Amino acid sequence: MSTGRVIQPCKAGCGQEIQLVVIIPTRLVPGTERKRIPLDLTFDPADGLPPSHAMNFGRTRCRPITPDHPIEDHEVPAITHFATCPARSARTPVSTATEGTP
Ligand SMILES: [Zn+2]
Repeated sequence: MSTGRVIQPCKAGCGQEIQLVVIIPTRLVPGTERKRIPLDLTFDPADGLPPSHAMNFGRTRCRPITPDHPIEDHEVPAITHFATCPARSARTPVSTATEGTP
């Protein structure tokens, strides 16, 4: 049953759905609880942002991308929703809500 993948609306209230994926830390600390981090459901490198995390092919786990551990061919690039969430960034407020309104 447990796929390790949870999809839910962003808690910051931006209206986007995000997936919570178990993150595998670079260093494993025995006894540490597995954490999940929010990743964008879609990642498009054409947006100009570099991926922050690498998911396994089944998209059930991820790990941080670091200079020592760049993304590999069998991994899926992803970006944490923290980097793209419009509700978290006061500098780039979402203005599309009123677009098209006379
Ligand atoms: Zn958000």
